[in-house]
Amino acid sequence: MIYLDNSATTQPFDSVIKAIADNMAGNFGNASSLHGMGINAEKVIKDAKQTILAALKRDGDIIFTSGATESSNTVLFGVPKTYKHNGKRIVTTSFEHPSVENPLRELENEGYEVVRVKPPKSSEPQDFEQRIIDAADENTVLVSVMWVNNETGFITDTSKIYKAVKRINPKTIVHADAVQGFCKLPVKTLAADFISLSGHKIHGPKGIGALYRSEGMRIAPLLYGGGQQGGIRSGTEPVDLIAGFAEAVKSYPDCCDKYAALNDRLTAALSELPDIRINSYENAKNILNFSVRGVRSEIMLHFLEEREIYVSSGSACSRGKTSGVLAQFGVPDRDADSAIRVSMSPFTAESDIDVLVQGISDGIKRFRR
Ligand code: PLP
Repeated sequence: MIYLDNSATTQPFDSVIKAIADNMAGNFGNASSLHGMGINAEKVIKDAKQTILAALKRDGDIIFTSGATESSNTVLFGVPKTYKHNGKRIVTTSFEHPSVENPLRELENEGYEVVRVKPPKSSEPQDFEQRIIDAADENTVLVSVMWVNNETGFITDTSKIYKAVKRINPKTIVHADAVQGFCKLPVKTLAADFISLSGHKIHGPKGIGALYRSEGMRIAPLLYGGGQQGGIRSGTEPVDLIAGFAEAVKSYPDCCDKYAALNDRLTAALSELPDIRINSYENAKNILNFSVRGVRSEIMLHFLEEREIYVSSGSACSRGKTSGVLAQFGVPDRDADSAIRVSMSPFTAESDIDVLVQGISDGIKRFRR
């Protein structure tokens, strides 16, 4: 089996499975209990927070959620509510994940002005971050930008945006959806007041995410209940999943050079094949999106699946629909229809890339119209 759909989800590390099982077996207390079992559970949560903050190289706080969807919803609904006097304008990109884009549509219905900045075409000078900065004015309550796009891997320098936006208006809050970059890219291009993270994209368990909150940032909760996690996220903390998430962060190796080499190998091999369009640019090297012109994505995907090679057509969230996000990156509709996304992991080997390319080459011979 060659699994190259790691932007959709990842195979849990063995160490993660063990951490979860050990915790479930030996540390099942409720972190709110005052007795020793509660204290032990609370310690797991505290340690996990430190692990994530260290990986982000930031001070502040971590709030555990059910996933990045909840983290981003908390910010998108909580920030305008908490800072309602700071303005009615929200600046974002035109290629956000639905967990950001759909809450923003709700906010538009409530009267917020949402400005969506388009990415540069690959040939344009890279003024993208500056255009986001320029769109943020005195009336901007929130800037929400994704760090790494889940379909093309396009990287946005949220640090540059964060610093400049704070200079223009220190009251503007900056949020980054960092799901696809966390543990995969060095964090020097990641800075924000709030950061959304997800466990299952980094070989942790599904159903656990985190929201980073910089020091002093207030936020209204999405859920009301027992007041856990400082009242920002009520509900008994899922200590086992938290232990698994932290273990994934600790276990994720530095793969920057490996991903760059695999990406080069794949790009070079694809360039030898007929009618390939590379759709990714300025991208995180673990993600490569390309179109096999004349072969629809689903046809190629299932052809590869017969060989136990797993890739994605666009993004898993779009469930086979033509991706609107690819159009934002200048991919014509007919090429978006034949887009394949390959996303790698620390388990990916050079030989996996070679087998994939052979599969694509065979698919082209069999299906190209
Ligand atoms: N943001 C991005 C960029 C994603 O790729 C995903 C998952 O596909 C999410 C957010 C949602 O994460 P979760 O599944 O943890 O809710």
